[in-house]
Amino acid sequence: MASNTAKKPFDLAIVGGGISGLGLAIALLEHGIDLTIYEAAPHFGEIGAGVAFGPNAGRAMQQMSPKIYDAFITCKTGNQHESKHNSWFTIRVGDARRADKDGFVRPGKKVGDALFDCTLSGGGGRGGVYRAQFLDELVKDLPEDVAKFDKRMVDMTEAGHGSGDMVLHFADGSTAQHNAVICCDGIKSKGRIWLLGQHHPAKEAFFSGKYAYRGLIPMDEAIELLGEEVAQNSQMFLGYHGHLLTFPIQKGKTMNVVAFNSRKTWDDDKWVVTTSKEEMEADFAEWGGHVQKIVGAMQKPDIWALFMHPPCETYTKGRVCLLGDAAHATTPHQGAGAGMCMEDSYIMASLIKEAQDVDDVQRAFRAFDQVRRERTQKNVTTSQEAGMMYDFELYGDDLDKIEESYQNRMRWIWDIDLEAQLREAKEFMKNVKL
Ligand SMILES: Cc1cc2nc3c(=O)[nH]c(=O)nc-3n(C[C@H](O)[C@H](O)[C@H](O)COP(=O)(O)OP(=O)(O)OC[C@H]3O[C@@H](n4cnc5c(N)ncnc54)[C@H](O)[C@@H]3O)c2cc1C
Repeated sequence: MASNTAKKPFDLAIVGGGISGLGLAIALLEHGIDLTIYEAAPHFGEIGAGVAFGPNAGRAMQQMSPKIYDAFITCKTGNQHESKHNSWFTIRVGDARRADKDGFVRPGKKVGDALFDCTLSGGGGRGGVYRAQFLDELVKDLPEDVAKFDKRMVDMTEAGHGSGDMVLHFADGSTAQHNAVICCDGIKSKGRIWLLGQHHPAKEAFFSGKYAYRGLIPMDEAIELLGEEVAQNSQMFLGYHGHLLTFPIQKGKTMNVVAFNSRKTWDDDKWVVTTSKEEMEADFAEWGGHVQKIVGAMQKPDIWALFMHPPCETYTKGRVCLLGDAAHATTPHQGAGAGMCMEDSYIMASLIKEAQDVDDVQRAFRAFDQVRRERTQKNVTTSQEAGMMYDFELYGDDLDKIEESYQNRMRWIWDIDLEAQLREAKEFMKNVKL
């Protein structure tokens, strides 16, 4: 990757090469920063099918790096119908139990009918990507020697001799020393446990009360089942203790499905478990025709338990900082987790670009924590609340209250002025005393 800037007198370790680690690495390399990515897996890879980015995420990518934005544009798919370009989701009731004795959920509206659109704000590109394709696009031009694979970090220590450097310890017994470390190691972050301490109540994620089935349906089949308008544009079907959403990916060739349901506890050590089609169908047995058809067409159902982080009081300690899901893993109900990762990467890379030495990197970490923590933690709590709303647990099944909330609740996410946040962070960084 070409760099127009002189090398800085420090080198960084990025632990984890998911959306956060890769986005950050690409932007930092463009600023001429020396870095190594340590990834636990044998190669880069994303699990799961689609991920949707909101307008805030599109703008973050655009501001962060032309390469990342190009990758997004190459992969992104929005609603296929012109009239739905500004719709986040079309909202419908999916659960047949909500209907009155004549089958209506609202005057003139039956189960499965479109009730209203939740309209987008904030400009910027938005859309769903197929995770594997997006990742392939991102890593295309990454220099080969930047990433080290099969490197599962198990611990960190400070280097001796007063250098202040950090030493990473890996499961294979090897170590690596760097001036500073950014932990992008996801929801089960080892960096988070190191930073907060073994006994901290927020060191690990907890079960949110929701789980999801994820699947893909070829678009031709989806159109046959649901008709063009439903299949080719984003839909959300609401119900009691569950909801189901769909959006097009792969330039409209595939319909991505996520079907949510609730349970009180999660006792399995694994967070993704295989289930049977019968079990999945039983979860939606009392839902209406659209949902029954979608669930019926989903193959190989896996259940994903949805965990989330409790808020913590800092994202940084010394020369270590948390970023992305390692800092603020969230439920996916606002479709904003990966978008927050992109925002994080943009702010972090822009601050490190300003750093002249490793002390400035530490200042950048403090400024990052200052401007990013409140917003990203708010996403975690409001996302859980949104999931409850879709599942008739926040305003019950009062569709008027739900509609009113939909029209406003995402604005603060989509409308963020990231340039203003970056200015605030830069100002803060100048005044940090170490
Ligand atoms: C069901 C579901 C649906 C979602 N849908 C959306 C959506 O539509 N829109 C949205 O914005 N967000 C969505 N999200 C959230 C989004 O997927 C995450 O916020 C995002 O992928 C997190 O990226 P990350 O790089 O921070 O972490 P991860 O993707 O978890 O990447 C962490 C990386 O670190 C590596 N790693 C882990 N531990 C170590 C270690 N000890 N040493 C070295 N490497 C390590 C892992 O192998 C991995 O490559 C969804 C999440 C779920 C569960």
